[in-house]
Amino acid sequence: MILHIDMDAFFASIEQAINPRLKEKPLIVGSRDNRMHTVVCAASYEAKAYGIDSGMSSRDALQLCPNLEFVPAQQGRYIWISEQIFRMLEGYGFSLAYTSIDEFQMDINDSVEPQKFARQIQERIYADFHITASVGIAKNWLLAKLASKLNKPNGIAVLTDTNLTEILDLVAVGKICGVGKKTGQILSDLGVKTCLDLYLKSADFLEQNLGKYGFNLYLSLHSQERFEPAEEESRPKSVGHSYTLPRATQTPGFIRAWVRLLSEMVAQRLRAQNLLADTVHLWLNGPEMGNLGAQKAFHEGSNDGYQIYQRSLKIMAKIGPKMPKVRALGVTCSGLLPNRYLPLFEEQKRREDLLKTIDKINGRFGEGSIYPGIIGLTKRMPRI
Ligand SMILES: [Mg+2]
Repeated sequence: MILHIDMDAFFASIEQAINPRLKEKPLIVGSRDNRMHTVVCAASYEAKAYGIDSGMSSRDALQLCPNLEFVPAQQGRYIWISEQIFRMLEGYGFSLAYTSIDEFQMDINDSVEPQKFARQIQERIYADFHITASVGIAKNWLLAKLASKLNKPNGIAVLTDTNLTEILDLVAVGKICGVGKKTGQILSDLGVKTCLDLYLKSADFLEQNLGKYGFNLYLSLHSQERFEPAEEESRPKSVGHSYTLPRATQTPGFIRAWVRLLSEMVAQRLRAQNLLADTVHLWLNGPEMGNLGAQKAFHEGSNDGYQIYQRSLKIMAKIGPKMPKVRALGVTCSGLLPNRYLPLFEEQKRREDLLKTIDKINGRFGEGSIYPGIIGLTKRMPRI
């Protein structure tokens, strides 16, 4: 069986656990400091009772509940607690995977009774972190994830062969992970309204109407397979790109443009392997300076070319006011970790969508064909 463990209102619950004044109060966590101009990225259950939920503007939320408490998001805090929970769960010895910052999946065997074990995990999470979690139990990851939503908060739901159809019949199809508004509408037009309607459709039917996604959805719904925990061993130690210029140059804008391009190329390779780097290394070579290299760490892992470029610029700034002649240069990222997180906030989601599109374009037209613009960069970019 698969256990899907999902923290209830994770960010908001953490804030309430840390600050007793916020306990049992309607609370939102905003992606920015400005309480009037941000997006709700988490709402406490007390706030949800007013109809407030993530994705809503804080202005609308405040209108629904004027005495709403507000806390700007502390991303580092949430990631840190998530890591602690992961480590605690790992201690049970079953294979474990991240599904998102506040969701974990565990593949258990017959040595434990699923419901009792789920209760034990909930109690442990509450004792250690003072937050609650809901657990879904089913034969595969998709159904377990669905089950985790059925009795929120602090609930347990088990989908067994005997109760599966009865329960799926009560749940709207939009509750299934991956069925968004658009797919939901297509399904609804086909008469597929509940999860059971979807479950009873054939692979052919779903493929005909939803394409490859439909076929995969069928497989996910009916799979008896255990998930494969992500392999961590095969990841490289570092990812880098370098380039030798046709002749030595000391024009800062030109050198920066090259650093930018190399940073973007490195970032693209990190993203292709779903990795984050925690350190950037820049080296420059020139007739006057010989080999010169330095490194700089990130606060949090990154695979964003612009951030890699920014770190590289800081390294360059240390060289001095006058740029020596540069003949060759390279950007390398190390301290590589698997990227386990989905973007938390709207701004990050937009940035990630942009980067994904850029990766697609570069995949088709060649590396370095396009990358995000910034103000202050030279207009003419070098081409490889
Ligand atoms: Mg959650």
